[in-house]
Amino acid sequence: MKEIPILYERKELCCGCTACYSICPKNAIKMLEDEEGFDYPIIESTKCIMCYKCIKVCPIKRKTDIK
Ligand code: SF4
Ligand code: SF4
Repeated sequence: MKEIPILYERKELCCGCTACYSICPKNAIKMLEDEEGFDYPIIESTKCIMCYKCIKVCPIKRKTDIK
């Protein structure tokens, strides 16, 4: 079974580009501001259909862990 994707494991692995937020067909991703004022995406698990578009579009993911 597919699982809800993990957009980033550490904050350094997300530049807050909002590409994942923009591409999500279900509007399941919210950008939330952290205590330092940077926006990070959060997936709402109830809306996510696990299409993984957000993972594919992420410029940092593309650079690092391609299987
Ligand atoms: S897997 Fe698809 S539905 Fe789920 S958050 Fe990513 S883009 Fe949205
Ligand atoms: S696409 Fe990747 S780098 Fe951009 S906001 Fe989403 S998780 Fe962060």
